[in-house]
Amino acid sequence: MPPRGRLATADIRDRLARRGSSACAVDRCFRPTHELSSWCKLHSLRNAKNGAPEQKAIRYPELAPFKEIASRWLSSNAGHPALALIYDDLDTISIKQH
Ligand SMILES: [Zn+2]
Repeated sequence: MPPRGRLATADIRDRLARRGSSACAVDRCFRPTHELSSWCKLHSLRNAKNGAPEQKAIRYPELAPFKEIASRWLSSNAGHPALALIYDDLDTISIKQH
């Protein structure tokens, strides 16, 4: 059975000390790895926040053209039974939340 609590923390520190420092797994990133990750702190955070170590945050202005495309698509398909089902589900969800 693996150690728990403080023993687990000590075990992790031991493993880190034995492993030593190695370079981040991302190409051309030479920062040391962060804790038990195979990436540096920057790339670990990007992975946690954005789903991939090299994925930067997508800003609202970058989404604007896609919002326009989605809006046009929704307008041109207004009344489609699948959309009506989705709108009903969204109404149900928003009613449950309020
Ligand atoms: Zn890195």
